[in-house]
Amino acid sequence: MLLTALLVNGCKKDSTLTNLSKTETKSDRETITLEMKDGTTMHVEKINGEYIIGGDVVLTREQFNYFKSKSKQGGLVTQAVYINDLLKLWPNKTVYYKISNSINNQAILDAINYIHNTVGIIFVTRTNQNNYIDFVGNPSQGAGSSALGMIGNRQEIKLANSISYGTVVHEICHSLGMYHEQARSDRGTYINVNYGNINDDWKPQYDIVNTGVPHGSFDFYSIMLYPSFSSDAAKNGSTTPQMTRLDGTTWDSQRQYLTTGDINALNYIYNPPYYVKAIMQIIPELSYGDATYSHAEASVHFYIYDNTNRTVPKILTTPLNVNVIEQTGTYPDSFGSPPTITNTYYYVTIPAGVSSYTPAYLTNRVVSEQSFSYDGMAYAGSFYKTFASFPGFGYQQ
Ligand SMILES: [Zn+2]
Repeated sequence: MLLTALLVNGCKKDSTLTNLSKTETKSDRETITLEMKDGTTMHVEKINGEYIIGGDVVLTREQFNYFKSKSKQGGLVTQAVYINDLLKLWPNKTVYYKISNSINNQAILDAINYIHNTVGIIFVTRTNQNNYIDFVGNPSQGAGSSALGMIGNRQEIKLANSISYGTVVHEICHSLGMYHEQARSDRGTYINVNYGNINDDWKPQYDIVNTGVPHGSFDFYSIMLYPSFSSDAAKNGSTTPQMTRLDGTTWDSQRQYLTTGDINALNYIYNPPYYVKAIMQIIPELSYGDATYSHAEASVHFYIYDNTNRTVPKILTTPLNVNVIEQTGTYPDSFGSPPTITNTYYYVTIPAGVSSYTPAYLTNRVVSEQSFSYDGMAYAGSFYKTFASFPGFGYQQ
């Protein structure tokens, strides 16, 4: 499985997905190539106004901007978008849904029941909830499409007529935060991707997505993995596989069940072994002299719990990496202008054997330093810092 901090790769390709290139219309399709800072290339298809990766995953504009921000072209996105939009999971592992196109009604209900029985995700018919999946018809291409994670408000899973139950499971997995298995950043130790055997339209579906976090070993049976050979991805009618194991052998796609690896990945994010809370404690602001200067300090504390309500402390049995985003706002050299925001990202490793932790680096940090002019406005040289963090699962600030 591949998790992207919260993004899991557990999907795999449906046989129905092999219709992708047959149904696409060249004229309203554009491929956006992002040269990533880590040297890889990522392709985003813009089809009928939708940003699509991996053939069937529809990105929000914010998610697209996030990927763009990771590219050499850069972007304006902030880490807040990353947290709020790219990595959002369904709270209390409860998904609200509506079936607007009932032609696949039975397949949808079967898939929902299966995922509930297997992983414990709770599916509830939507009444007036803000965030919900709407099952509709007519994907832009292929058999189905879905958003990645819970993106907020109404989000669609588009399904072609009379698709298989396994495809619905695959698409719901995308909505839960999982992405394609072949996009894992560590796939090179398991498979070869032979781009020479892939037609140009299909190449984006074989991109590595480095923002994903692989969970467990590469899973050749994952419901999120494409098959070795797809006739529609083939270049010039070639019968040579697009992907092989390192020893040259091939595999078929599996679209009947969630594997142990798929289930482990979903459990990793929806039924985590522990829950984390981060608290930033601000130490009262200190003023000096004539009160034209002040500064504030803060410490960030992490607490580990055994339950989702975060009332029962738990001792970590293995170290836990927590992503920390340090946001610094620096005021420009003009009165009243908004600060320039920069984000710094790093990991804090909470060691095994503790149930709370305050990293030395985040103890009594100066987080605000301001000098004031006669009218009380902060001026050049002033700054403030805020911290946010997420361990990738079970996290709550
Ligand atoms: Zn997919």
